[in-house]
Amino acid sequence: MNKENRLPVSVKDVMRKKGRLFVVSGPSGCGKTTLCDALLRQRMGLARSVSVTTRQPRGKEKNKKDYFFTSMRAFKKMLARQGFLEHAEVFGNYYGTPKQFVEKNLKSGRDILLNIDVRGAAQIRRAHKDAVLIFILPPSMADLRNRLLGRLTDTDQQIRQRLFIAKKELEAVGLYDYYVVNNKIGAAVNELKHIISASRRKIS
Ligand code: 5GP
Repeated sequence: MNKENRLPVSVKDVMRKKGRLFVVSGPSGCGKTTLCDALLRQRMGLARSVSVTTRQPRGKEKNKKDYFFTSMRAFKKMLARQGFLEHAEVFGNYYGTPKQFVEKNLKSGRDILLNIDVRGAAQIRRAHKDAVLIFILPPSMADLRNRLLGRLTDTDQQIRQRLFIAKKELEAVGLYDYYVVNNKIGAAVNELKHIISASRRKIS
């Protein structure tokens, strides 16, 4: 290309080559997984990070696709090898984001989507200052309770415990860059798409 037609170097510098880390987080039952699945179907060029967990597969979940289902022993080994970007215990099971997958993809310019709990998001904020943290809010506590009841997998005692923890987790919203209220799935996915598009054009 003719030298005069090239964009100035300062403009090129603004065009980021490294991938971005998008973190979708919020209390259990607020619909993060449904939103993330819908977002990934939108072909926005996001790679989903598959977490490692010690919990048992549920329903139609597949190993390596939904999670890497593993033993506590193997999880601890990976933890000792510093194999996780973040990890947390959620309702008695351990979950972790594989570090190598995320860092390799970010380096090669690929954007990554994480669907993790609130404590995991706080760890990501410390390790990756430029990660984009998005908090998913339920429209109300009553709505969250109904969603947890609708799962039919939890006992009354578990639902009460999840609501108690959810209330505490909602207080972490100030740590995030954006929030999305998950009232209607379509509208919430659209908001996520806008946040992602705008973040991709952010200069600093
Ligand atoms: P579930 O067992 O229902 O799939 O997930 C339980 C919770 O663990 C959800 O809030 C989910 O977002 C979170 N979670 C899933 N993978 C990870 C992970 O790798 N790290 C952390 N910190 N939380 C995770």
